[in-house]
Amino acid sequence: ATPTALLVGTGRGAQLGILIKGPEVLESTRKIDTVVLDKTGTVTTGKMTLTDVITEPGTDRATLLRLAGALENSSEHPIAQAIAKGAVQEVGDLPDPEDFSNVEGKGVQGIVEGHAVLVGRDSLLADWSQHLSADLASAKAAAESQGKTAVAVGWDGQARGVLVVADTVKPTSAQAIRQLTALGLTPVLLTGDNTAVAQQIAAEVGIEQVIAEVLPQDKVDVITALQAEGKVVAMVGDGVNDAAALAQADLGLAMGTGTDVAIQAADITLVRGDLRSAADAIRLSRKTLGTIK
Ligand code: ADP
Ligand code: MG
Repeated sequence: ATPTALLVGTGRGAQLGILIKGPEVLESTRKIDTVVLDKTGTVTTGKMTLTDVITEPGTDRATLLRLAGALENSSEHPIAQAIAKGAVQEVGDLPDPEDFSNVEGKGVQGIVEGHAVLVGRDSLLADWSQHLSADLASAKAAAESQGKTAVAVGWDGQARGVLVVADTVKPTSAQAIRQLTALGLTPVLLTGDNTAVAQQIAAEVGIEQVIAEVLPQDKVDVITALQAEGKVVAMVGDGVNDAAALAQADLGLAMGTGTDVAIQAADITLVRGDLRSAADAIRLSRKTLGTIK
C-alpha cells in the first residue's frame, strides 16, 4: 500500500464519519474475520428507563426506590441513571448516601439513611448471603426473557426487590450486522449482562454467537482467546470497560458517543455512534488496500 493511497483512504473515512488514527491502521483490517460487539451503548442505545418495580411482600415500594435510587444516583452506569431518574420521578428528592462504592461489573453498595444497601447482579447480593425468594427470582427471569435487565436490591441482610430497566436496540444495528455478515465477518456479542438478555438482544439484531456474563476485566481475555484460536478480531465498544479489549483487538473501533478512554484505546472512532459505520470502515479499508495492489 502506498502512503498516498492510505492517506486518501483516511481522508475518505473522515467524510464518512470514520476517524482513523493513522494510515497504517487500514493495513490491520486486511485479515479481520471476526467482529466482537459490546452490547450496551454499542448495539443498544445504552439509554435505559426504569420499567418495573417488583417488591418482596412486606417491602414498601417507595422505600425500595428511595434507597436504591439514592445509591444509583452516585453511579454513572446507564442502569444506575435509569433507576435514579425513575426513583426521583416517583418519590422525589433522594438522600445522599453516607457511603458508596462501585463494584465493577456487579453493581453498587453503600449506606443510605443507616441501611446497608446493595443494588446489582444476584452474585453481588450472594456475596453478602442475600438470596432472592423464588417469586422474585421468577419475576426477574420473566423480565430477562423479554430482553430487559433486572437488578436485585437488598438491604440490612435481605434481598427485597427487583428493579427492571430496559434498553433498546439502536434502529440501525440489525442492518449493520447484515452488512458485517455480508462482508464475510462473523459477529459476536460480548457483554457483562446476563445470558438471557444477551441472547434476546442478539436474536433481535441477527447475531448467533453470544459471550455473556463477562466481567469488565475479562473482556480483554475473550479477545485474546479468540486470537489464540487463530481469529483476526475487530472489537467495537464504547465504555471504560471495553478499553483494554479495544487495545488488544487487531482492530479497535470506538463509538464516538462513548467514553474518552474507549476512544483513546481504539484505532478508529465511529463519530456518529452508528454501527453501520463499522461496516463502512471495513469496506473502505478493503477498497483502499485493493486499489493499491
Ligand atoms: P456491559 O458489559 O453490558 O456494558 P457491565 O459490565 O457494566 O455491562 O455490567 C454488568 C452487569 O452488572 C450489569 O448488566 C448489571 O447487572 C450489573 N451492574 C453493573 N453496574 C450496576 C449498577 N450501577 N447498578 C446495578 N447493576 C449494575
Ligand atoms: Mg458498554
